[in-house]
Amino acid sequence: MNLELSAEQTAVRRLARDFVDREVAPHAAAWDRAEQVDRGIVKTLGDLGFLGLTVPEEYGGSGGDHLSYVLVTEELGRGDSSVRGIVSVSLGLVAKTLAAWGDADQKRQWLPRLTSGEAVGCFGLTEPGTGSDAAHLATRAVRDGDAYVIDGAKTFITNGTWADVVLLFARTGDAPGHHGISAFLVPTDTRGLERREIHGKLGLRGQATAELVLDGVRVPAAAMLGPVGKGFSVAMSALAKGRMSVAAGCVGIAQAALDAALAYAARREQFGKPIAGHQLVQELISDIAVDVEAARLLTWRVADLIDRGEPFTTAASQAKLFASEAAVRAANNALQVFGGYGYIDEYPVGKLLRDARVMTLYEGTSQIQKLVIGRALTGVSAF
Ligand code: FAD
Repeated sequence: MNLELSAEQTAVRRLARDFVDREVAPHAAAWDRAEQVDRGIVKTLGDLGFLGLTVPEEYGGSGGDHLSYVLVTEELGRGDSSVRGIVSVSLGLVAKTLAAWGDADQKRQWLPRLTSGEAVGCFGLTEPGTGSDAAHLATRAVRDGDAYVIDGAKTFITNGTWADVVLLFARTGDAPGHHGISAFLVPTDTRGLERREIHGKLGLRGQATAELVLDGVRVPAAAMLGPVGKGFSVAMSALAKGRMSVAAGCVGIAQAALDAALAYAARREQFGKPIAGHQLVQELISDIAVDVEAARLLTWRVADLIDRGEPFTTAASQAKLFASEAAVRAANNALQVFGGYGYIDEYPVGKLLRDARVMTLYEGTSQIQKLVIGRALTGVSAF
């Protein structure tokens, strides 16, 4: 892998870095306290082209390669994980999946709106009774003439109350497990779809996480994304690339932890000198720095594999597993550098730790990533 960025990649990273320093990072703490990021940010992200990265230009995307997407995601994660998550879901899980699996009408209907920020997408897989074991989801879509009628419930849906469209997974057949699942594009203003915001999250507080209840939701058969019964493949293809995006966000968190720890250690004095001069503080800082670099290299490697058309699923699980655990470690180490001040929300490191914690849980917990990696290595499924 060539680790030198091209002129385009350097430019897009610079654009993202300036935007984050100017319009995201300064507001992150206030958005966290208010439990809502400024909704206007979605349009700005669209105007900058960040909601259309890797989506073909003919559908309103800004093109670009996956490493550019990773670089932007890393910067957004450095500024505010709630903002990063909006992009990872609306672009990463919804628009990119639609670009890969959609027919021409579906792409024309949704992609220009999603990539411009005029519309937001959410990804409806998890249910109250099925999280890690998503293949056994219970939401059901029954064919009725040229339509499907959907009943069921989804939970923990990022962007849930903001979204204009949900990429929803429901059971269309009696086949067991993943075989009977299909994917649908459901506009959120469809009658029978109710959304309830989930409050009291440990982190990602600026993000609208919701429960979706579907009671007789009727969509045309043309709303199905991909072939009937192939919904689980649609979901897994979305999540494989999604894991790269989560990993990139984690690199951003770890980088923010490193930046904050370095700045604080240089100015805080104890025992007559800056704490940066104490060996055990340097240990904390060097541990963070190694985690940042290792997580970054694993994540860039996934983007490189995708851009070269190579298999990347196991590499994406490895990057997501390592980067998410590294982000938690890095934020926790940074908090230690801050001492008692790290424990109050006037300083940024507590939020980094709270935001990092969910990364080991969603888009497949750390245990599930280990099962994916273990299956690839041994050829035996332990699910
Ligand atoms: P469970 O599956 O019940 O797992 C509980 C514990 O058991 C975990 O430690 C897990 O690792 C372990 N476990 C389970 N099975 C095994 C096994 N076979 N071997 C070993 N250990 C196992 N979902 C969406 O569809 N869309 C979203 O946009 C979305 N956003 C989210 C945002 C937030 C803030 C959160 C918290 C969650 C979000 N999720 C979303 C859901 C998320 O993907 C699930 O929470 C996750 O998949 C885990 O499922 P669960 O919470 O039901 O835990």
